[in-house]
Amino acid sequence: MNFLEKKILSDGVLKEGNILKVTGFLNHLIDVNIVEEIANAFLEAFHGEKITKILTIEASGIPIAMTVALKLHVPMLFAKKTQSLNVDGNIYSAKAYSFTHKCDNQIFVSSGYLSSDDRVLIVDDFLANGEALKALISVVQQAGAQVVGCGIAIEKGFQGGGDAIRAKGYKVKSIAIIDKMDYNTQKIEFRQQNQ
Ligand code: 5GP
Repeated sequence: MNFLEKKILSDGVLKEGNILKVTGFLNHLIDVNIVEEIANAFLEAFHGEKITKILTIEASGIPIAMTVALKLHVPMLFAKKTQSLNVDGNIYSAKAYSFTHKCDNQIFVSSGYLSSDDRVLIVDDFLANGEALKALISVVQQAGAQVVGCGIAIEKGFQGGGDAIRAKGYKVKSIAIIDKMDYNTQKIEFRQQNQ
């Protein structure tokens, strides 16, 4: 079992509706050591790749994306979920259905912050149905930039989003992939991966 699988078993809580609550180390209170280990695992997985920008989506992807960006000395860009006054001018946008909030989210990135020269590593905390990741990939494509790959902390493999994106040819590295989770027994089964 790797560090994140162990942390999920010790500190994660299964909620009804196939939700894994990780507010105690990733989504509210942040365990910076775990975030650093996640970032290191992404650096290892994408070692040798030229990466010019890290892209995530607000809010919970930001700490991980920031840590990866800091280690690579590249800028970190986060897609916004509201088109606020300070995201003006031309934008790239895409729609993503939110699994946790059960509604459509439009995501936005100022077009000035992504260009066709960029080689982008997309980073997020969770991958479930893959809606958020598909929207982020779309934003990169709208800019004419390259997706180097996707680094995900926790993938809920049983929801299929990750495998569908892998089937399209993208490299998706998830540190913990949950193949089964049961609210009634609070049991979690992880996919065996070559660590
Ligand atoms: P997807 O778009 O792949 O269905 O879901 C990914 C997004 O939904 C992530 O950015 C994450 O914020 C949220 N999410 C999906 N499932 C869970 C879950 O079980 N627990 C938590 N904490 N967030 C989730």
